[in-house]
This record gives sequence, structure tokens and C-alpha cells, in this order.
Amino acid sequence: MLHRFVHQERIAYFTMEVALRNEISTYSGGLGVLAGDTVRSAADLELPLVTVSLVSRQGYFRQSLDAEGRQIEHPDPWEPARFAQPLPAKVSVPIEGRVVWVAAWLYVLESHRGGRQPVILLDTSLPENAEPDRAITDYLYGGDPTYRLKQEAVLGIGGVRMLYALGFRVRQFHMNEGHSALLTLELLERYAYPPEDVRPGELRYDIPRVRELCNFTTHTPVEAGHDRFPYDLVQRVLGDFVDLPTLKQLAGAGELNMTQLALSMSEYINGVAKRHAETSRRMFPGYQVRAVTNGVHPFAWTAPPLAKLYDAHVPGWCHEPELLVRAECCIGDEAIWAAHREAKAALLDKVATLSGVRLDADTAMLGFARRMTAYKRPELLFSDLERLASIATNHRIQIVLAGKAHPRDEGGKRAIEQLHRHIRALSGRVRVVFLPNYDMALALLMVSGVDVWVNTPLRPLEASGTSGMKAALNGVPSLSVLDGWWVEGRIEGITGWAIGDDDGPGERDAESLYDKLERVVLPLYYENRAGWIAVMKGAIAKNGSVFNSHRMMRRYATDAYIR
Ligand SMILES: *Cc1c(COP(=O)(O)O)cnc(C)c1O
Repeated sequence: MLHRFVHQERIAYFTMEVALRNEISTYSGGLGVLAGDTVRSAADLELPLVTVSLVSRQGYFRQSLDAEGRQIEHPDPWEPARFAQPLPAKVSVPIEGRVVWVAAWLYVLESHRGGRQPVILLDTSLPENAEPDRAITDYLYGGDPTYRLKQEAVLGIGGVRMLYALGFRVRQFHMNEGHSALLTLELLERYAYPPEDVRPGELRYDIPRVRELCNFTTHTPVEAGHDRFPYDLVQRVLGDFVDLPTLKQLAGAGELNMTQLALSMSEYINGVAKRHAETSRRMFPGYQVRAVTNGVHPFAWTAPPLAKLYDAHVPGWCHEPELLVRAECCIGDEAIWAAHREAKAALLDKVATLSGVRLDADTAMLGFARRMTAYKRPELLFSDLERLASIATNHRIQIVLAGKAHPRDEGGKRAIEQLHRHIRALSGRVRVVFLPNYDMALALLMVSGVDVWVNTPLRPLEASGTSGMKAALNGVPSLSVLDGWWVEGRIEGITGWAIGDDDGPGERDAESLYDKLERVVLPLYYENRAGWIAVMKGAIAKNGSVFNSHRMMRRYATDAYIR
């Protein structure tokens, strides 16, 4: 199988997480889903990529919740042999003075159109490794900084070695976030000048040559999203592999900053929405940060009833999602509404199964689901329970929530518990349910089944956000703070609605959210069905046609990969 992929030069796409399919929990949230959509679009468009990630045998975690809303984390293992083939190569990475062997699995992602994409999943669970080293590729984002640095060494250094050992010819490297930035050090070694050409005091590395090969996408302005490792730890783990004076020049004098390393070593750098590129330029002065706004995979993120509708009225839409601009005039109101009712019914069934609560098909349903973490402000919608209850008295509403908190994000976990207290406080007045274990399957049901997708990040911390794009593909408009992709996607009253304004500190966002709901969104939903369906169509035609990963990958191809 491998021989199919090595004959052609490829773009090596490195990512710590990748959402290949729902049963394989090698992803934690938006970054992994984006990586999966990248590979899915590359498969449809037959772009020559090879993706490199870790096998993450124990996954991220499966979430359950007790009655108080306390998150319980279970391992979420998967069996690589069920989905992937073992590859006939082994490479080694120096870790803590030991040789750690790395093997690989080949997962082939197949497009519904027949295209295929190779995904290389690195694995240290080998009998020749010491017991603790076998676990390096077990838990996605697990463990302490030492464990994380070992994982990043396997991904970056082991990944490059593995690609060459397997016979891949790499045209460009693309780092999806800074986790894989150690790959640049391995490339520096590979392209170092021969010792006899280096004069005293000269650097033996050909930095411009390596930089020419590297592309870096930064994904978040949030500090915790940028890995930093103290240099004594780096020396303990990587030993002689690193040339410390050079590394300090490239990655920061005080500590190894993986983002800094990726920035220093990449010719092409981008943020994931226009607003995010502006924010990143302020964060990293001196670097030219471009923007490639994220997108979502059209086929993967369109619920079956809507896909059937587009097949009938906009044939070719999932290969050429630009065609969705035709949704506005080519699809009848009744047909859109019927497809949406069907998607809503599927969500209502899922809610009943998971929570025992039967929500109502004729009541406006708000959805909010994301990684539970402070800047996403999951509590904003509940900041004035009396106001929310009074809105629900005048215009019926029901709310569906979901989301995982990272096991070490205590604030995120407290937010889930707080939401459960709000649910109890509103009981009898507003029906609110929190669904456990938000994953890709639940996400598709939610983004297509609710009536309005709510998003309340603290500006400017939402680099892009992608779930609102998924909602738009299904004709579900967003009510969202103007951050990330929504700055580009929102046309007020036509594709959805803004919460608050475009600048300022966001202190009045809750009030704005309640006002919009009460005065604009809910009256339109209940009193002007034709007007409502026009907004649904606006979301499909003006957002779905643009914020998809086909457009995104064509942009990466023309701007980054071919330059
Ligand atoms: C799309 C998706 C996300 C990312 O959503 P955001 O809007 O970026 O917060 C996270 N988790 C899952 C399971 C998803 O499908």
C-alpha cells in the first residue's frame, strides 16, 4: 500500500492531533478536527500530502459526568491494528540518553470520491523500548512537561526520520501548531554544512535552506496553547541532540518556546482568520504573519437530510462547495425547513437517549458546545438567570450544551459544574440539558439540529472557531461575539447576528446577547418564518460556500506549498 504514496513528492503535514474518524480518539477538539478536515479535503482534491501524528493508543479521554456535573475522565483506547497497517520501518530518537525506537502505522484516509491520503501514526509501544518509553505515544496531551517534551521529540524528530526511512520525498513541511517544531532541528542536522566547509566561529547550519522548506500555522493567542520548556529539561531529555547556543537563538534565550522556534524556522507563517493574523502580528512583531481562514469539510459536516437536499438542488456541492451560493434561489423554503426539522428530530432523539429529557420540536433551540475553558465563557449565557427565564417566558427557548475540559484545566471543570447548578436553578422555567462526551458524532447532531448556534468567546482569544462554520453548512445561523471567523462571516441579519460590537472589552456582551435574543432572533423565529428561512439560506449560501476546508486547502496550496 505504501508504494502508492512514495512515488510522488509530498507536503509533510505534522500535527499532534488528528480527528480521522469518531472511533479513533486521536483528537481533543478544534485543532484535531481541523487537521482531520485538512486531510479529508486533501483526499477529495487529490493534493499530495502525507500527515504525521502520534498513534495516541489511549486517546484523549472519554467524559462522563456525575449528578453535580463533576467531570470523570476515562481512558479512550483504540486498537491501531483494526484500522491501520503496521509499516516495515523503525527509527530511533535519543531521549534521556537512551535510544527510543519508534515504529509507525499507516492509516489510509479514503475520500468518498476515491482519493486516498496516507497518515503516518508514530508508536513507541515496542518490546525493545524500556517500559516507560513504551507509553510515550499513549495519551494525547497527557502527563507532565517531561512527558510532553518526549512526545514532541518523537513527533518532530522521529517523524522526519520516519518519513525518510519510508522513502517519502518531501517537498515542504507544514507544522500545524508549534508541537512539531523540533522537526526543524532534525532538518538543520540533515542540511548542515560538511565540517570541512565550516570556518571557526561560523554556524554549521544552513538556516535559510531549512526555512525555505518550512511552513507554520499558529492556532491560538491563548498563552497555554504555546508550549514552553525550561532548557535544563530540554538538556535532560534531548542531551547532545541539541546545540544549545543555536537553539537559544532560534527558540528564546530563557526557555524553549516552541512557537518561537517554529516562527524562526518558517518561511511561510499564517494565522487561521484575518483577525487572528492581526493579533498574531502584534504578538510576534517582526514576522510576516498571513491569514488563511479555517474551513470545515463540507461532506463530513453536513447532516444527511441537508446533504440529500443539496444533492438534489445543488449537484456537485460537496466537491465544489462554492456552488452553495445557489442555495438561496434554488432551494424552496419548505424543503429547507423540512430538512432542518429532520435534523432537529435526530438531535431530540439523541438528547432523550443521553439525558432522559424530551425536548420540543416546536420550541426554539439554542446550542452551545465547545472545549470548556475560561476564554470561551460558557457561563455568559447564564450570567443573569432571571433575565434568561423572563426571555423564555415571553418566547419559548430550550438550550443544549456539551463540552470537555482538559483534565488539568480546573477552571474549565468548575465551569461545567457551574453550568449544572444553573440547569437546576432554571428547572421548571427553561429546559437546559448538558450532554456528555462531546465528540465528532455529537457535534454533527448538535450543529445541524439546533436552531441557533451560540458562541461567546472573550475577544480576541478565539483564533477562528469552526463549529459555527459547521452550523452554517446546515443552515443554522450563529449568534456570536465578533471574533475569529465570525468577523468575516457575519452579515448582520443575513447570515446570523453579532453579540456586542467589534471592539471594546466585552463587558456588556451578556446584555447584548439577551437583547439580541429577545428583540431580534426569537421574534423572527416565531413571528416571521419566511424571514427566518431567509437567514438559514444566507448562512448556507454566504458562509457555507466560503468557510469550508476545500477553499482553505486551495489557499494553502497556492500561498504556502507552491511558492
Ligand atoms: C468542531 C469541533 C470543535 C471545535 O469547535 P470550536 O467552534 O472551534 O470551539 C471541538 N470539538 C469537536 C468535537 C468538534 O467537532
